[in-house]
Amino acid sequence: MPAANEAGKHHIYPVATPRLPPLVPPVQPIRGTADLIGEDSRRHRHVIDTARAVAATYGCDEWSTPIFEATAVFARTLGETSDVVTKEMYSFEDRGGDSVTLRPEGTAGVCRALVSNGLTQTLPQKIFYAGPMFRYERPQKGRYRQFHQIGLELIGAAEPLADAEAIACGHGILTALGIAADTTLELNTLGDTDSRSAYRAALVDYFTLHRAALSEESLTRLDRNPMRILDSKDPADRALVADAPTIAPHLTDTARAFYDGVKRHLDRIGVPYRENPRIVRGLDYYSHTAFEFVTDRLGAQGTVLAGGRYDGLVAEMGGPPTPAVGWAAGIERLAMLLAAPPPAPAPIAVIPIGDAAEPAALDVLQALRRAGIRAEMAYRGNLRRRMERANKIAARAAVLLGEDDIAAGVAQVKDLASGEQIAIPLAELPDRLR
Ligand code: ATP
Ligand code: MG
Repeated sequence: MPAANEAGKHHIYPVATPRLPPLVPPVQPIRGTADLIGEDSRRHRHVIDTARAVAATYGCDEWSTPIFEATAVFARTLGETSDVVTKEMYSFEDRGGDSVTLRPEGTAGVCRALVSNGLTQTLPQKIFYAGPMFRYERPQKGRYRQFHQIGLELIGAAEPLADAEAIACGHGILTALGIAADTTLELNTLGDTDSRSAYRAALVDYFTLHRAALSEESLTRLDRNPMRILDSKDPADRALVADAPTIAPHLTDTARAFYDGVKRHLDRIGVPYRENPRIVRGLDYYSHTAFEFVTDRLGAQGTVLAGGRYDGLVAEMGGPPTPAVGWAAGIERLAMLLAAPPPAPAPIAVIPIGDAAEPAALDVLQALRRAGIRAEMAYRGNLRRRMERANKIAARAAVLLGEDDIAAGVAQVKDLASGEQIAIPLAELPDRLR
């Protein structure tokens, strides 16, 4: 038998005694992770919903790939000297002895999925995704260990128009979120393979000359991937990078024509950009276009949306050579830029007057919900308590149902802002309250 509480109003059911003592409070989330509750959750959802809708207008379908993959999916493709692979991956051996990694980014998994699902002959594929990513980083504002990204991939298009469309879609999302004016698009080209090997040689010459001033880490990069030095966050490296040669004089005619094409399309679409020869991106698979939307409103973590062309990645994943371009954006950083979180829609409070009115009130409650209206009925309480509750949940109206009203087939609807009250036939409630 359930035991009645002191008020005698509701029953508390006994629960089984836990076998272990409870955790000693306060139990905290893992460092660098966060709970999304209330306003945080609404901001987060708003970013995803807005991005998904804009991406759909560009013809994108949404893909969801697993949150963990074989470690090789990332280790082999992101670049063995990239920050992500050298120090940020959450990799572990599972119980079967396989090395798996919590995904640090979305593109490698999408390309793996393209190949696994035999879609490399069904191109182009236009893909939108949203979900959590994991990187072992030093947590700070705008930088977490579990964070979330939205992303876009246009796979199977070699034309500069695809680069411009990917960027325009990103810009469209920032515009729809009301934050485009807070960001600047920085654009660069990494050229084709020939441009890059010429540029690489120029960088090796330059950084070798300044070898003594380079950070330990960049000395390794100098041997293995000198372009990565341009992305270094070390202050001493950054000073050298400021005067490093740029790729422009090393671009082949093809690479230059491609870059000009991207810029021409962006001009035509009306997406403003600033050329920045220092944008190189942190992962190895990029070529040609590289871009970042940056803001000065988030302190050091100023990049909100970033991407580029990655023509080599699908082939590295075991598919045929397949051109592709895409980007990813940090949802937390976008959410922080939103002026105000979108409000939760105000509910309708359904209020039975007396126990006998509750079944009819439940019918009304469900009819409103079927009509897509947010409606709530308190689980218990007298009229005064229920009205207090309606105000507490900021209901826009209360639907009051007394036995006489029910007999007459009406409800008293009280506008909780104006206090005005009118009788409305039960059948008309969903339409009148919408
Ligand atoms: P950063 O230079 O800030 O480390 P990144 O080059 O590592 O960025 P990308 O891999 O391009 O970032 O990821 C795309 C976007 O995802 C970033 O521009 C940022 O908005 C977001 N992002 C990346 N890492 C994190 C993180 N640890 N926490 C929150 N957001 C992140
Ligand atoms: Mg990073």
